[in-house]
Amino acid sequence: MKAEKYAAGDSITMMCSACDVEQNHLVQTVTKLGKITSAKCEVCSTASTFSRGVKTSVAVGKSNKAASPYDRTRKYKKGQAMMHSHFGQGEVTAVLDLQKIDVLFGDRTRRLIHAQE
Ligand SMILES: [Zn+2]
Repeated sequence: MKAEKYAAGDSITMMCSACDVEQNHLVQTVTKLGKITSAKCEVCSTASTFSRGVKTSVAVGKSNKAASPYDRTRKYKKGQAMMHSHFGQGEVTAVLDLQKIDVLFGDRTRRLIHAQE
């Protein structure tokens, strides 16, 4: 995070853990120093909170919109979240080549395929 000051009502662009892409977020609350403590995605309304300047997802374990299901035909990129039917929620840690990705599920990394025709 840059040392910029924000105010509630500001609009910022950041990664939305639910949408899996960068979205406009509406700043909800800030500290006295102008640091964002929570912001809401303008597209899916998922709230994200910040802890010491690091964004953390609020949606973990909740039934509201979570990561999209893993889809082998989809093309993933680093940092994208997914929900796998066997392994649960994961995050892409590396794109190895055009059709292979490493995904971290809990504390295990698994190699999956993606971008299959
Ligand atoms: Zn969103």
